[in-house]
Amino acid sequence: MTDRRDELAERLDAVRERVTAACAAAGRTDLPTLVAVTKFFPASDVDLLADLGVTDVGENRDQEASEKMAAIAQREALTVHFVGQLQSNKASSVAAYADVVHSLDRAKLVGALDRGAERHDRTLDVLVQVALDDGEGRGGAAPGDLPALAEAVAAAGHLRLRGLMAVAPLGRPARPAFARLRELSGTLRAEHPDAGWISAGMSGDLEDAVAEGATHLRVGSAILGSRESHR
Ligand SMILES: *Cc1c(COP(=O)(O)O)cnc(C)c1O
Repeated sequence: MTDRRDELAERLDAVRERVTAACAAAGRTDLPTLVAVTKFFPASDVDLLADLGVTDVGENRDQEASEKMAAIAQREALTVHFVGQLQSNKASSVAAYADVVHSLDRAKLVGALDRGAERHDRTLDVLVQVALDDGEGRGGAAPGDLPALAEAVAAAGHLRLRGLMAVAPLGRPARPAFARLRELSGTLRAEHPDAGWISAGMSGDLEDAVAEGATHLRVGSAILGSRESHR
């Protein structure tokens, strides 16, 4: 366990240095929120990360996340982000443990998530996931659908519209995609001034995301190690 703690501490430091360097390179004085994506890794890792000062963790599968979050000792100290594909029949379960949902990408999910949040007597922060890949399958709403989706989230009683999330397209440079996301964020903010969060950037492309104004980075393997051995 001590070894694992050292390993996580080392990787976390390296990621924090990358973020700091990317901010300096971009002339940013604000630090984006680092969300440690802990999918496939055990609750004990989440507790170790909390000990190391991590405040935000991300999960992408409901069943795994709901079991894990019930098992961590430091739940109170953490903001939990759901970043995976969302299904409407799982919305109520997700609403029980997630504080932020990054992956709302269709109208049907708005009502399901809102009812789930109401059932658990809470308000969820919500990002609308946008597709930057012309529908090649990494998820997200078409940019043209954003205004209506955003409006629906903003009108829901137990959801707070916070901004946009995207995954960079596969096999193409991330930077232009994140630049497009930043543009879409500007358009969204004109209508919804409190929705300025931009969730972008993973282990391989966090520098590009920082350069394009990301407020939230979702970093898994660079902090926790390869998921291959944990699948
Ligand atoms: C797994 C995952 C991440 C983290 O990916 P890494 O490449 O391991 O940093 C980020 N975002 C989403 C939506 C994910 O599912």
